Amino acid sequence: MRGSLTLKVLAFVLIPLAIQCALLASLAKLQSEAEAELKRSMHARDISDAINKITRDAYDTIATYGGLSSVSELSTDDPIFKDLFERLKRDYDELKALATDDPAILAAATKSEMEAKSALNSLIELKRSFDLKGESDRAYQKVLWKRIRASLKQVVREELAYVGEEQKHLAEKSPQIQAELRLKAQNLLIFTGAFDVFLALVLASIFVRNIVGKLNRMTDNAYMLASNLPLNPVLQGTDEISRLDQTFHKMAAELKAASKRETATFANARDIILSLEESGRVMAINPACERILRMRQQDMVGRFLVDLVVPNDLSKALDYLQMIRSAPHVPDLEVQMRDGDSNMVHVLWSGQWSQEENSFFLVIHDISDRKQAEELKREVISMITHDLRTPLSTINSILDLFNQGHHAKFEAKGLDLLKVAARNAQRMMVLINDLLDIEKISAGSMQLELEPLSIEKFFADCRDATWSFAEETGVQLVFLPMPLTVMADHQQLERVLSNIVSNAIKFSEKGCKVTVEARQQDGFVEISVKDEGPGIQPEMLETIFDKFQQAPNTSAKVKGGSGLGLAISKSIVELHGGKIWVRSEIGRGSTFTFSVPSAVDWLPSDD
Ligand code: ADP
Repeated sequence: MRGSLTLKVLAFVLIPLAIQCALLASLAKLQSEAEAELKRSMHARDISDAINKITRDAYDTIATYGGLSSVSELSTDDPIFKDLFERLKRDYDELKALATDDPAILAAATKSEMEAKSALNSLIELKRSFDLKGESDRAYQKVLWKRIRASLKQVVREELAYVGEEQKHLAEKSPQIQAELRLKAQNLLIFTGAFDVFLALVLASIFVRNIVGKLNRMTDNAYMLASNLPLNPVLQGTDEISRLDQTFHKMAAELKAASKRETATFANARDIILSLEESGRVMAINPACERILRMRQQDMVGRFLVDLVVPNDLSKALDYLQMIRSAPHVPDLEVQMRDGDSNMVHVLWSGQWSQEENSFFLVIHDISDRKQAEELKREVISMITHDLRTPLSTINSILDLFNQGHHAKFEAKGLDLLKVAARNAQRMMVLINDLLDIEKISAGSMQLELEPLSIEKFFADCRDATWSFAEETGVQLVFLPMPLTVMADHQQLERVLSNIVSNAIKFSEKGCKVTVEARQQDGFVEISVKDEGPGIQPEMLETIFDKFQQAPNTSAKVKGGSGLGLAISKSIVELHGGKIWVRSEIGRGSTFTFSVPSAVDWLPSDD
């Protein structure tokens, strides 16, 4: 039973329907046969009746004019004679009309009519002989008389009598034929009905085996998939249900693979992944808890997670669980937990509440290493601040004093060396200050003191700070101030501009020009520093504002610098709410631009 389900269903409906149609056609045929038989029998009866009438009329004639004496009294004008004459004519016309389709009957009727006519002609001839000659021509009259009798007998004998008998017989036989036809119809009905019932049973059993059976198997498969049991073998075939089953198997295989992957991810994840009941008890947890919290999975299940949180962080943790229940995007929470060995573990909770499952899903990320690194960094910074910067600034001051000729006298060569030492000490100081600043900014502890700052003053201060460096390098420094005012922390913004201008001078050849200008742009003032230096490699443009980014193989390292200047500048500009960017082409110089909010937008309105 291959083929599509549609074909099967169609066969199931169409085969019995075809049999019903054949039955109807057969019944209609039998019905029309019965009707034809009825007509034939009525026709035969009519013919037989017509012949009977002729026979009766012929015998009537014989009876009426049975003797010669009766002929002598006959008058041709007698209405009885006339009536007889016309009746016979009508009888024959009727018979011939009935027999138009039957040549044998028609021939017999014509022959009989001729005999009847000849008898009647002889009768008229006899009558005329009586009228003319009376009893004198007895011999001739007897001859005529015998002829009349012979003809009248001929009228009803032989063919016509035979036909009459035959038609009568036909008419009598008809009810029997009709009964046979009815029986036939009855048998046909019973046989076909029984066959139809049988066929319906056979088809239904095939249907059940092929379709309902397959559907049951699919239902079974769905149950097995849900219960994680192996599925029934794939249904072979091309019908819709088999194809559905084949797809179902494919889908089940993919689901299994996905679930395997998911289980593997869950089991091998470095972070703890767990689900909590609404009350906060652990429902399921992955093996990462053994590494991070030094607790076995089975010991964690059923425990309240917050029991592992240190008392100081407990209310924070409870609030967090409460918050993720009501809000979709809650920032991750840093908490300290105690592991199975009572050690503190710094972790980050990242959780979600599932309304459908009525439970929490949490990922616990171990940030102990990060915390340790942060601690280390803090220690290094405090070490730099106290153990490096303080002695270095003392060294700087002493070198300054020596440079100014206090406390010691140096020869010319010694003075040169002293200057080198002072410059290097200064550079170290800059580097340390930069490091501390960048740390301050990323820790969010740098505070800006915003005030209106005129661009003219801003540019003038920068010129004062950088012109000697420009002169030393032989670079032409051009400031194009504008009557604009920004809202800024003067000291910090000065650092930004000085750093960019110093870089521009530092990377320019002797005789090149560095132009500093400002312009108003959508509530901001954009300040740009354009140089005619070597330009910046395109791949470096993306990262130039990151920490410790210096162009390889350039004079940057030779020319000094920490690689922190632009990172600090970017942080300061962003603290002001502005942006910083660079456009550069190798061999055609660079333009650094930063934007700061215009002071006009900060002024209180007149009303
Ligand atoms: P540095 O202290 O090294 O100057 P910066 O953060 O100020 O650190 O600059 C980072 C790097 O960007 C520089 O070392 C240099 O390679 C590149 N750079 C900065 N300004 C320019 C410029 N105007 N022309 C070419 N390269 C530049």
